[in-house]
Amino acid sequence: MACNSATCNPGCLRDASREDAEKEQQSHPTADDHGTCNGDEHVSNRAESLSNSICLKCKLNETIAASGFGAGLINGDGGRFCADCFRSNLYWKFRFSVTSNDMISPADNVLVAFSGGASSRVALHFVSEMQDKAQKNFEASRDRALPVFGVGVAFVDEQSVSTDHCHEFDIAIEDMKLMVSNLAPPLKKFLVVPIESVYTLEPSNGRERLKKLINTINDTTGKEDLLEHLRMLALQKVALENGYTKIVLGKCTSRIACHVLEATVKGKGYSLAADIQYVDARWEVPVVLPLRDCFSHEIDLLCCLESLKTVEVFRGKRSGINGLVSSFVKLLQEENPSRESTIVRTAGKLTPFHFNRIPEDNKSHGPAASQRRQRKRILKTDNLLSQESFCPVCNCPIKMSDLTTTTHSEDAQTSVDLMELCCLSCRFQILPAELSSLNLFHSFLPDPIVARANDARSLNHSWLREQIEDCLLSDTEVEA
Ligand SMILES: [Zn+2]
Ligand SMILES: [Zn+2]
Repeated sequence: MACNSATCNPGCLRDASREDAEKEQQSHPTADDHGTCNGDEHVSNRAESLSNSICLKCKLNETIAASGFGAGLINGDGGRFCADCFRSNLYWKFRFSVTSNDMISPADNVLVAFSGGASSRVALHFVSEMQDKAQKNFEASRDRALPVFGVGVAFVDEQSVSTDHCHEFDIAIEDMKLMVSNLAPPLKKFLVVPIESVYTLEPSNGRERLKKLINTINDTTGKEDLLEHLRMLALQKVALENGYTKIVLGKCTSRIACHVLEATVKGKGYSLAADIQYVDARWEVPVVLPLRDCFSHEIDLLCCLESLKTVEVFRGKRSGINGLVSSFVKLLQEENPSRESTIVRTAGKLTPFHFNRIPEDNKSHGPAASQRRQRKRILKTDNLLSQESFCPVCNCPIKMSDLTTTTHSEDAQTSVDLMELCCLSCRFQILPAELSSLNLFHSFLPDPIVARANDARSLNHSWLREQIEDCLLSDTEVEA
């Protein structure tokens, strides 16, 4: 968000006379607030406003709110901290998430998923800053034992399925390239990943197939959800092909709060805990959420303070259930600024899955301090031993005992069997109800989803076999 954007205070570009006028206004806040001001009340209010306008942390600088910066974005921290302390506080939150969850190790090659929006812009900014600091430490250290992690950037191009075609797409891509090249050295690779790359086909055939797949879905929410799952598949594919070992998403508290309610409404209670942790290693390339503890208003304010430019390319208005939930959470947050964190903290009480931490063989033997912190934050993994299958479409964990198995006529077998391997939410929201559309949907699925369905099918069979083992005749018994 540039400082001259609509949401930003004109103060960002203010001139000296305006600044004076603002200062004048700040020293008489009660005159505006209450219409009148006189006598002792004025004096005490003035003293209070002066003490309130000093940063709580450094007790030296003016708060962001008092300096007249970014009004409309000021929410909590802006009224308590100066720009420097606000910034270092937010970076500290990011860094703490990274170090205490072993998100990035020196040997890693990190791919930041960049949509052009504020959250992923801040994620990119912070990851780059962290790399820059690691690089400086590396150069200063005598033994140069720890390597510095690599950083790349990926943007998923959804032009082939976007309804609101972006006329300025090429300009947006150029803007993003420029943003990436302006980051601290070393130069980062910028990858534009067409969403149809989930198909191992010629791009034009892939586009065609993807369009057909999306067209078999009637539900708006279902279409949007499937696209989100495909976006992740595209990121996984490009990460694997280019040797990246982690994918960084810019999901912040506000976005996660929306996800909690969306998943609840869609009946994804069992798998919800999997999606909202710092680490999600159910994917071949583990996914990490270092901005999990940062709010969207903080991210917007940082973009404004640091003049971090953003470009919104595809993510227009969310629709269906997702759109309703987004506006509902926004309303809740306006009424009470702590609502988003309450939602996330409440959902955070759910027990995470065993894949919600970086696998042991993926961890570097980092500094002892980081390992100590890790021990303190060991996740409860009670369900480590419970067997899960994964939904072929959305990859959410499903309790094996929740899978239904029935037999069908030969031609209906594969599609109906896919339906039975999927989670309830995908069955209802994404999979077409009508058999002919379901068959089409099944025939247009990209390879990774088909492979996941095959895995789930064989896991399901062996699990069923285990369940009825005692009733089966052994080979020797059959022969006898
Ligand atoms: Zn300060
Ligand atoms: Zn699913």
